[in-house]
Amino acid sequence: MSLDFHEQITMLSNQPILLCYHCHKCTAGCPVVEEMEFGPDRILRMVQLGERERLLKSRDIWLCAACETCGTRCPNGIDIAKVMDALRLEALRSGVTPAEPDAAKFHKLFLFVVQTLGRSHEASLLIAYKLWTLNLLADMDSGLQLFVKGKVPVLPKSIKGRDQVRRIFLKSAEAVAKENLPSANPASAQEAK
Ligand code: SF4
Ligand code: SF4
Repeated sequence: MSLDFHEQITMLSNQPILLCYHCHKCTAGCPVVEEMEFGPDRILRMVQLGERERLLKSRDIWLCAACETCGTRCPNGIDIAKVMDALRLEALRSGVTPAEPDAAKFHKLFLFVVQTLGRSHEASLLIAYKLWTLNLLADMDSGLQLFVKGKVPVLPKSIKGRDQVRRIFLKSAEAVAKENLPSANPASAQEAK
């Protein structure tokens, strides 16, 4: 147990974690809590208590979909998605093998697609994800339905500010290097195992 772990995660996430009084509102609204072992409010409690190892090895931090529902419900204004981000960063920096390796791969690919194209493109993301994870047939039904309904465009649309998006990634990588933090950039982050 690390005594200053909550300070570290508070600094990384820039969220007032100690203000959490465990009202459970965040967990009540979380769309993936059924799949989680702890859920967002217990995650916050574990950060407060400095349960570093359990948290960094937890699958919950990789299952969080960053939907922000919890943050909008929190009476203390804690953006828990940012806390989850900080925990993922700390897990990568510490060399902890992600408990949900496919989710970690998805995160890296998503950032890579946005960095490359300037925006998300589901078809590119899907193909790259399938090839990397070799889960070729998983969720095929849903994917086909989305494709037939025209929800997954085959070709990416170009955007005006592609260079600006790349600069944002560059600045982020520079800030990470300056602070000696792990990068979420797939080009420089540690490989998901
Ligand atoms: S909603 Fe906010 S205060 Fe309530 S348990 Fe969740 S993080 Fe804590
Ligand atoms: S941001 Fe993560 S923890 Fe919060 S409600 Fe969404 S999935 Fe759940």
